[in-house]
Amino acid sequence: MSNKPANNIQDLQYFGEFGGVNPSISDSATYTFLHAKTMLDTFEGHAEGCYLYSRHSSPSNLYLSEALAAMEFTETANVAASGMGAITSVILQVCGVGDHIVSSRTIYGGSYAFLKNFVPKFNISTSFVDITSLEKIEAAITSNTKMIYCEAISNPLLEIANIPELSKIAKKHNIILVVDNTFSPLIFSPQKLGADITIHSLTKFINGTNDTVGGVVCGTQEFIDSLRNVNNGAAMLLGPVMDSLRAASILKNLRTLHIRMKKHSENTMYLAERFEQDGLKVVYPGLKSHKDHNLFKTMYNEEYGFGGMMTINVRNLAKANELMELMQHDNLGYLAVSLGFYKTLFSAPGTSTSSEIPEEEQIEMGLSDGIVRFSIGLDNDIERTYRAMRKCMKQVGII
Ligand SMILES: *Cc1c(COP(=O)(O)O)cnc(C)c1O
Repeated sequence: MSNKPANNIQDLQYFGEFGGVNPSISDSATYTFLHAKTMLDTFEGHAEGCYLYSRHSSPSNLYLSEALAAMEFTETANVAASGMGAITSVILQVCGVGDHIVSSRTIYGGSYAFLKNFVPKFNISTSFVDITSLEKIEAAITSNTKMIYCEAISNPLLEIANIPELSKIAKKHNIILVVDNTFSPLIFSPQKLGADITIHSLTKFINGTNDTVGGVVCGTQEFIDSLRNVNNGAAMLLGPVMDSLRAASILKNLRTLHIRMKKHSENTMYLAERFEQDGLKVVYPGLKSHKDHNLFKTMYNEEYGFGGMMTINVRNLAKANELMELMQHDNLGYLAVSLGFYKTLFSAPGTSTSSEIPEEEQIEMGLSDGIVRFSIGLDNDIERTYRAMRKCMKQVGII
C-alpha cells in the first residue's frame, strides 16, 4: 500500500465477471450455498468470500468499501445508504444507555439534531464543545464518555479540528475519536493522524455528481465486523444499506476524485483571495487570515490544497438571499444545499443546513445569518467566474 491515498485508489485492480474493466454489479438480494454448512459459517461471519444477504454485504458494496478503506488507510470499511446512515450506525453501535459523547458544536445540522434530539431517547447525552479548544474538550470528558465526535473541516464555519491532539486526549481517556471527513476527502487522512473511525457522506465530493446519497464508515476489521454483526450490529439491524447499482456508480466516480479535488481547491483559492482583496469577509482555510491556516498545513496532503468550501459574510440574510438569487439567475451556480458538485452551489447555512441549531446557539458560535456558504465547482475559466460573481456583488451593493 502506498502512503498516498490516490495511489491506493489507482492501484485497485478489479475484474468484472466477464473480464470487464469495471467489476460486475451484483444484482441479487440473496445468495445460494452449495453446502448447507457454509450457510451457518457465513451467518456467524466466518466464511471468506461467501455472501448471505445483501443487507449484510454484497459484492458491489464490498468493492466500494474496500476502495474507500484504501483511500483512508483503514483496515476495512462499510458503505451505507447515506452519510446519516453511517453516522447514526456508528453512534448507536458505540453508545448505549447512560453513555456520553463529547461533540464539536459546529457539525452538520443532521448530526447535531441526531445527538441533540434523538439519542436522548436512549439516555445518551452529548456535550457540544468548541472543537478548537482542546482544554474545553478534555474538561467535558466524564467517566461515561465513549467518544469524541468532530468534523475535520467543520460545517459551516470551516474550523479545523486538531486531529493529532484530539487523538492524544481520546487515547489518554481510553475513548475513541470519530472524524467526519466529508469536506476533505484526500486532503486529510484522519486515520493516519490518529482518528479511530473516519466517516464520509459520499453524497458530496466523493460521488461528485449529486445523483445519489451515500455514506461510509472506515475503521478496523473488528469494528466493521461488529457493525455488520447479525445479532447486534447497527448497520445490519437498522438496515441503512446501499444499493449495488449505486455502489457501482459511486466507485466509478471515486476514480476521478483526485483530479476533481485539486480543481475544487484551485478554484476556491482563486476566488477566496480575490474576494478578500475586494474587502469582503471571506473564510477559507487556504487564506493566511484563517485562524487555523497553519494547523491545516501541519495535517494536509499538500497536493490537494485547502478544499472546495468557503464562506462570505454579506452582513445580513436579505443581502445573502438577494446575492444568491442573482448568482443563480446569472448561471454561476445553484441556490441549493449540499456540496462537492461540478457546478457551484450556494446556500445560507443559518436558514438551511444549520437551521436545526437554535438561534441563540448560532449567535454564540459565530454563525451569522449573513453567511453565504459556497461549494465551488469545477469551472474551467475561474477568472471569468470571478468577474461574473463580482458583478453580482457590486449589483447587490456589498462591494
Ligand atoms: C451531508 C453531510 C452529512 C450527511 O450525509 P447524507 O449523505 O446527506 O446523509 C454528514 N456530514 C457532513 C459534513 C455533511 O456535509
